[in-house]
Amino acid sequence: RSKKTENYLQTLNEPQREAVLHGEGPLMIIAGAGSGKTRVLTFRIAHLIEKGVDPFRILSLTFTNKAAGEMRQRIENEVGYEARNIWMGTFHSVFAKILRIEARHLGYTSDFSIYDTDDSKSLLRSIIREFKLDDKVYKANVVYNRISGAKNRLVSAEDYANNPVIQADDDAARMKELGRIYKTYVGRCFQANAMDFDDLLFNTNILFRDFPDVLYKYQHKFQHVMVDEFQDTNVSQYLITRKLSAAHRNICVVGDDAQSIYAFRGANIENILNFEKDFPDVKTIKLEQNYRSTSTIVNAANSVIARNKTQLEKKTFTANEEGSLIDVIKAGSDNEEGRMVATAIFEEKMQKSLKNENFAILYRTNAQSRSFEEALRKLGLKYRIIGGMSFYQRKEIKDLLGYLRFIVNQKDEEAFKRIINLPKRGIGDGTVAKINVTAADQGLGFWEIASNATYYIGGRTAAPIEQFATLIKSYKLLIEEGKDAYEIASHVAKTSKLLKELYDDKTVEGLSRYENVQELLNGIKEFVDSEETEDKSLSAFLQSVSLLTNADEPDEDADHDRVTLMTIHSAKGLEFRNVFVVGLEEDLFPSQMMLESRQDLEEERRLFYVAITRAEQKLSFSYAESRYQWGRLKMCEPSRFLLEVDKTYLNVTRLLAGMDPTPASGGSTSFVRNLTPRRPTEPRNVPAAKAHAPSGDFKPSDTSHLKAGDKVEHMKFGFGTVVKMDVDGTDRKAVVRFDGVGEKTLLLSFAKLRIL
Ligand code: ATP
Ligand code: MG
Repeated sequence: RSKKTENYLQTLNEPQREAVLHGEGPLMIIAGAGSGKTRVLTFRIAHLIEKGVDPFRILSLTFTNKAAGEMRQRIENEVGYEARNIWMGTFHSVFAKILRIEARHLGYTSDFSIYDTDDSKSLLRSIIREFKLDDKVYKANVVYNRISGAKNRLVSAEDYANNPVIQADDDAARMKELGRIYKTYVGRCFQANAMDFDDLLFNTNILFRDFPDVLYKYQHKFQHVMVDEFQDTNVSQYLITRKLSAAHRNICVVGDDAQSIYAFRGANIENILNFEKDFPDVKTIKLEQNYRSTSTIVNAANSVIARNKTQLEKKTFTANEEGSLIDVIKAGSDNEEGRMVATAIFEEKMQKSLKNENFAILYRTNAQSRSFEEALRKLGLKYRIIGGMSFYQRKEIKDLLGYLRFIVNQKDEEAFKRIINLPKRGIGDGTVAKINVTAADQGLGFWEIASNATYYIGGRTAAPIEQFATLIKSYKLLIEEGKDAYEIASHVAKTSKLLKELYDDKTVEGLSRYENVQELLNGIKEFVDSEETEDKSLSAFLQSVSLLTNADEPDEDADHDRVTLMTIHSAKGLEFRNVFVVGLEEDLFPSQMMLESRQDLEEERRLFYVAITRAEQKLSFSYAESRYQWGRLKMCEPSRFLLEVDKTYLNVTRLLAGMDPTPASGGSTSFVRNLTPRRPTEPRNVPAAKAHAPSGDFKPSDTSHLKAGDKVEHMKFGFGTVVKMDVDGTDRKAVVRFDGVGEKTLLLSFAKLRIL
């Protein structure tokens, strides 16, 4: 073994090392949170490469592309840049890549479009309209979920339409036309040379089922297959990995049944049980030691998950220190919850000299982020939101991407509909409908109709449609000339007048949309310039963006030191020093929609377990006694989950006493007081030397970079200048000369200072 190998093997415990060194044959690790599963997978890949396995022949499937990126980086540190050649990514991104290569077998071309959820729903809406169905019964959302569910169970449109048994669960009585919609939807996607997200898995299964030589090729290409977060793979994903590893049987899966949180998406704990049946000679390794969290956190998590009936037997302990108790924060309202959590972060950060990035706020639904954003902004704490309205879901971004998609694939109907009248050229919905009908009549695509609009459509709108077609043709030429993604995208942004329209809009929103498009162009430039990009074509770029998951958001800027706000679902696999699990109220968490059966409630509890186990050093819970939901003020009960945590690990004093108030909140936990609008403090008629009247909305700033010479304002002492800084252990002190008050030595972890 090389010196290097020795190094990382020494950082593993015995069962972890055994897993890393395991040679050929199936391997499964089912173990609790923080026990090093991902770490084992990472070092196992590094080890295989060191032993001489070609990185091109290792396939590693992760939950987000970001997770893949981090794992790759870690492996690169051990084995060098060869790590770049590993096939690594989410199921969707890896198999989209394979589908591009093999597209022709399925009747697609290799530059097929990928429809995102919005595209799919928009297509479904038009089908529902064409069928003249009641869109209150056939909600696009619900229909989409039904179709998605069917695809993930590998039920084709034909099977679905012909088999009443399959439909029975889908309350088919209410939506009798579901089968017909599904069939038409699939047909239209195919015509558009487009696949939706579920197709990427569904079609891979078809590919491997119907083309044994293709399957053979990939079975022999990949010598080793690895799957992280195995508990959340759905049937469709599981079958793909099983088929791929059928020849060599070198499959290594790691997961935790207690963290299965996507049952609603077709993921199934059964996979774990099936794995043992499908690979009876599987080697199973247990990891029982948690390295991530304090014993308080590990024990609290264990006390919660013990209540679930459906779970595999396993233990988790830790040798880590006990750490502090779990704070429980009670707030009067959702806004106050935001302020209390932000203040707690602020104080903890100052007292312990931490960074913003040490903190995460985890919630059940994206809509909860607002109150935390506001409060963090007031305290000057930088944050980033993962998920929610993602960068790539913004209209201006989708508009430009719509152009780029259509230039690559003129059959892409959803892209066509998006851009045909953008910027406005007098082509209304009526005309689009006419193009639609004509295309169906003539058995042609939108593009053929649009390119010959004078003939097919005639009338006043024919000319602008043909001008649009000419514009698209001029862009297509750029692809033929071999221009790269950036050259084409920046040319399109300029000449389509998309940028100009945004530039001319001088509102704040307009400006930010303009910047977003610039940011997208920057991103494309980065893609083209990156050493890792082999194929710099527009089509390759589109592929890379269409598969980003919510957790793969671009960072707003290079500054990584931010508090993270995200849903618990997207926090899977991650860890943070300090974690706040917020909104612990009945009907919110557990969600109202998950209270119908024991299975559902257990899934919510697993989600709670995932949330708790993200924390390393310090965990806090919070809930509000009232909150605005769907525009109404609602009184809330604390979540049953709070009561399920073993009390020995909870610190409820904050709950009883309320917290040290921020000056802005008025310090009341009474929700009536909190709803009264706050007035700025009236200037009081007292000499400045005794009591300073701070400006109306006194916001303490982050003092981690405070230095001598800085001008500051203090809550009580008023204005002053920092004379010198003093660091005593972790305590940071500032000596400040205040006007009319004199010199004061302030402990920065407590002082409420504003830097001017
Ligand atoms: P999850 O179930 O949440 O995905 P996991 O089982 O994948 O967790 P890892 O993320 O791999 O756990 O590891 C948790 C933390 O413990 C990481 O910071 C990791 O570096 C650390 N760790 C794991 N094993 C060891 C070890 N033997 N020695 C020191 N640190 C370790
Ligand atoms: Mg992990």
